[in-house]
Amino acid sequence: MNTDPDCVFCRIVAGELPAALVAEDEVTIAFMDINPINEGHLLVIPREHHESIATIPGDVVSHMTLISQWLTAALRASPVRTEGVNLYLADGAAAGQEVPHAHMHVIPRWRRDGFRFNVSRPPTPTHEQLEDMAAQIRAAATE
Ligand code: 5GP
Ligand code: ZN
Repeated sequence: MNTDPDCVFCRIVAGELPAALVAEDEVTIAFMDINPINEGHLLVIPREHHESIATIPGDVVSHMTLISQWLTAALRASPVRTEGVNLYLADGAAAGQEVPHAHMHVIPRWRRDGFRFNVSRPPTPTHEQLEDMAAQIRAAATE
């Protein structure tokens, strides 16, 4: 299995560093984020080390997603304040990824909890510009 001895999440998987475990199976583990955005913020990671979601085998990504869905339901059913949930994955440092082992954030949300993405959008594109962008991405998409 792909692993990196210097990776903090690989070290959690190996049991070398402590973590408050929420769930584990043969493919993924889920544990509480050490510096939560909101109370109940947890992370779902593949056991295997992959920096980018792009290099994780598809069945592992599917499994991570299913576990994230399952834990979203668990949060909603739990006493943890959860009026909504954000699933969030930062792929690459430019996207805000700080730990280079792919992970899904599962973040409980409620109205006026103070958390917001600081969004500044470019001017609204024309439909033609959207079609052009879609064509570029379609052409680069591999099977
Ligand atoms: P990123 O910015 O890479 O998307 O998110 C990394 C997340 O991992 C952050 O929310 C951060 O608080 C969390 N984190 C970093 N180091 C540790 C650790 O050693 N243990 C746990 N439980 N979470 C960590
Ligand atoms: Zn790792």
